[in-house]
Amino acid sequence: MKKHNFYAGPSILSDFTIRNTADAVLNFANTGLSILEVSHRSKEFQAVIDEASELVKELLDVPAGYSVLWLGGGASMQFCMIPFNLLRKKAGYIDTGTWAHNAIKEARLFGEVEVLASSEAEGYTFIPKGFEVPADLDYFHYTSNNTIYGTEIRHDPDVPCRMVADMSSDIFSRPVDVSKYDAIYAGAQKNLAPAGVTLVIIKEDALGHVDRPIPTMLDYRTHVKKGSMFNTPPVLPIYSALQTLRHYKQVGGVKELERRDVEKAKLLYDAIDNSKMFMGTVTDPADRSIMNVTFVMTPEYKELEPKFVEFCQNRDIIGIKGHRSVGGFRASLYNALPIDSVRFLIEAMNDFEATH
Ligand SMILES: *Cc1c(COP(=O)(O)O)cnc(C)c1O
Repeated sequence: MKKHNFYAGPSILSDFTIRNTADAVLNFANTGLSILEVSHRSKEFQAVIDEASELVKELLDVPAGYSVLWLGGGASMQFCMIPFNLLRKKAGYIDTGTWAHNAIKEARLFGEVEVLASSEAEGYTFIPKGFEVPADLDYFHYTSNNTIYGTEIRHDPDVPCRMVADMSSDIFSRPVDVSKYDAIYAGAQKNLAPAGVTLVIIKEDALGHVDRPIPTMLDYRTHVKKGSMFNTPPVLPIYSALQTLRHYKQVGGVKELERRDVEKAKLLYDAIDNSKMFMGTVTDPADRSIMNVTFVMTPEYKELEPKFVEFCQNRDIIGIKGHRSVGGFRASLYNALPIDSVRFLIEAMNDFEATH
């Protein structure tokens, strides 16, 4: 029995992805072998990684001159790989949440980092606006969706330098103008696959401009040259990612996914706004994430928060407790979450409010 899965990551995957992955664990591509035990150099797995990369290019309309990479180490590894490969003198970051903050910390190991704007002092409750991006930066880095704080930048900024984005928790939830970016990265475990692989889209022209020696495994050029097969890639998560990407194509691509995601988020935000017991935490509605909806109970009801989490659990609603650093609630509405789960959560909120 499937529960209503609102976990922030690892998080819900489509039945299509889970069933096909389960089938391949038993018999992969009619090889008579499990996907868990085949060589990554087999022609059957080569076909998997090739198709997955092609589908990323197709779904996000990736222009020529970019490589799609499948790397280990999580999105957190990209916090160091990006500056290792791209930072010569100075980079600009905006500090919009815990992940952005961690990325800034790593970049400082490699050069000067200018924090162009920050909402840290206000608990990351909004996206800073009106900041200038200087043209002399090696690159500008931002986090498109702040998974923990429920804020999101849902457009591709125009900046006068190279641009890099951490899209871990909202990739494939809208069309992206990849041509504006030099690097996009996303840990798989939010909108793509089980944990263990990170998707990187890198502009080849952005590489090879730094003087420092780069360890082989941390050098993007290694993985571009070897098609993500320099060493053993995460075979199973890549197989699952392929299933998700096929499913995304089948349902109509990122435009259709965006339409569904916007509809789901609007339902829940409207319910929160119309409630006397719950309230949103993001101060500017324009910044509200359509992937992670963060909310709390109003001061009058605050002490009922743990009770509501329990109430939800009893109705098979899982994972709505807010991140340990912020409390309250967070409902993650990733692509695979059916709209009926959102309706079910809203019903629970209404019932709880009516009886407390
Ligand atoms: C989850 C997340 C990360 C961290 O991903 P790992 O794969 O655990 O390193 C980084 N950035 C964002 C935006 C995230 O949501």
